[in-house]
Amino acid sequence: MQDLDKLIAQAADLLRQANYAVAMTGAGHSTPSGIPDFRSPDSGLWTQVDPFAVASLFAFRLRPQEFYNWIRPVARLVLEAEPNPGHYALARLEAAGLLKAVITQNIDGLHQKAGSQRVYEVHGHIREATCIRCYQIVPADSAIKEFLDDGQVPRCECGGVMKPNVILFGEQLPLKVLTSARQDTTACDLMLVVGSSLNVEPVADLPLMAHGHGAKLIILNYQPTHLDDRADVLIHADLAEVLPRIADKAINL
Ligand code: ZN
Repeated sequence: MQDLDKLIAQAADLLRQANYAVAMTGAGHSTPSGIPDFRSPDSGLWTQVDPFAVASLFAFRLRPQEFYNWIRPVARLVLEAEPNPGHYALARLEAAGLLKAVITQNIDGLHQKAGSQRVYEVHGHIREATCIRCYQIVPADSAIKEFLDDGQVPRCECGGVMKPNVILFGEQLPLKVLTSARQDTTACDLMLVVGSSLNVEPVADLPLMAHGHGAKLIILNYQPTHLDDRADVLIHADLAEVLPRIADKAINL
């Protein structure tokens, strides 16, 4: 039985003592905002299809309509989603100088929507789309909204198919973003892991990398992770409830 008040106080203490704290967030951070974990087998998205058959770069080039049909319900949820109290808590910590950056696996842009300034989106984002023929980059908003309305695959002026700037299976992670995320991981003396089951490589390696450099770890996740025994503070609870309380305590004391 965990003593939540005590754990929250300990996490707040660590944040105040840290010189360079970084947060890493996973799909669990956005589930309270109504966005399912689309990489998780439990999300229901994989029950009808084989992920590699629709959500890989190869499949996208071959059958973009199939990809768009599959992503349609998720795209709608993501576009309509609002940040939850956990997102706002991280933004407040950054504004108070207690958090340097957020590394996220999420593509929904909710950290920025909540006010976070320095966000590394290692799996890409949905704000832009790239033409897979001429590589022109355009704001995804209008293209995706149009697609949600009429179901037609968004196309570039050149006739090429537009791909949202999210990282598909079989696609390289954005190198610049990943490099920055790794630099902050090496620099940090505290990593706050929120809403990640730490299953998706290579991002899942970052907390272990931080820990290896001597950083302390706070893990806040509903489910156990394979790094639980290395955490300095381990909280299995609802992040949307707990993270604001940690931020309040860290900022106000
Ligand atoms: Zn084009």
